[in-house]
Amino acid sequence: MDVAARIEGVRRRLADDMTPAAVVSVTSNLKYVTGFRDVIDRGINAACLVTEDETLFYTDGRYFEAARSAAEGGPWEVRLQKENLYVELCEELHARGVTSLMLEAGVPYGRFKFVSEQFRGAVRVVDRLVEEMRQIKENEERDLIAQASAIADRGFEHILGVLAPGVTEAEIALELEYFMRRNGSEEMPFSPIVASGPNSARPHAIPGARALAKGDLVVMDFGARVGGYCSDMTRTIGVGAVSDELRRMYESVLAANAAGIEAVRGGRPCADVDAAAREVLRKTGLDDCFTHGLGHGVGLDVHETPTVGPKSTESLRVGQIVTIEPGVYVGGTAGARIEDLVAVEESGCRLLSHAPKEFITV
Ligand code: ZN
Ligand code: ZN
Repeated sequence: MDVAARIEGVRRRLADDMTPAAVVSVTSNLKYVTGFRDVIDRGINAACLVTEDETLFYTDGRYFEAARSAAEGGPWEVRLQKENLYVELCEELHARGVTSLMLEAGVPYGRFKFVSEQFRGAVRVVDRLVEEMRQIKENEERDLIAQASAIADRGFEHILGVLAPGVTEAEIALELEYFMRRNGSEEMPFSPIVASGPNSARPHAIPGARALAKGDLVVMDFGARVGGYCSDMTRTIGVGAVSDELRRMYESVLAANAAGIEAVRGGRPCADVDAAAREVLRKTGLDDCFTHGLGHGVGLDVHETPTVGPKSTESLRVGQIVTIEPGVYVGGTAGARIEDLVAVEESGCRLLSHAPKEFITV
């Protein structure tokens, strides 16, 4: 992890904006710029102050020692937050004679208001201060995501032996989570989605007490986490004999998934990649049932930029890792989604999801 280069990236943005200091406070951005990821939990009072020549990571007594050992020999230092993080940050900056400041767009409004008052409004709130850099994965990051993806592949293989009529969605979700945790995954990047029968028409259904029944499609969307990095994959299977209509739905989604993957390469507009998959569904009259974008970036967070959708204005860049996940949802009946993780390369992409995609019935 090239933490020094990441901090330099923040400094370049400061120089471009002629602003003397930035506060990084979004949790996954803090993890990214410091490489210190083990013990930052959600909602923690922590922030990183980046100036031209210093990077100070403020944290409280719960994390101080761990952060200090992580910082040893590195390009950032740790400061113990005593009472109020933002009061102390502003005092530090005022003591240095700093009169303007850059904040991230994700900063809570109350904190923004306080800092803005302290700096008499000389506060710039910027989008993607760190997220822009996070899009392009270092080799080490890509390897961690590939490892997380391999655990999910094994999770799929394992769950095929568990799926049967009568087993509930909640039982399947729990088994997936248990298996992946037992096989090297850290905390789940998101709760596995297991949606059967009519529930499969809800893209982000919550697994419940419904038992699998013959004729169902079952959508399973899940990922693992290794070294803080996430994977994300969806597979759809059938239970017993599935109607021809649902089978055709599956094959259309599979063809759209293949077309999307085929369209990926560095420099390609994201909207074109989305369109390539959507066009396949249009030919079978199912494009109206594809109600979300084709994909998204994955990294420290399961949903990152870029967005690969019909309204995207960006182009793919070599080093990004994105999902390709077309889905078709017919309310009250069924849905199907097939999601793969791919690493964007110069002339195509490298597939990081390897679980089988031919139609499987249990
Ligand atoms: Zn997913
Ligand atoms: Zn996804």
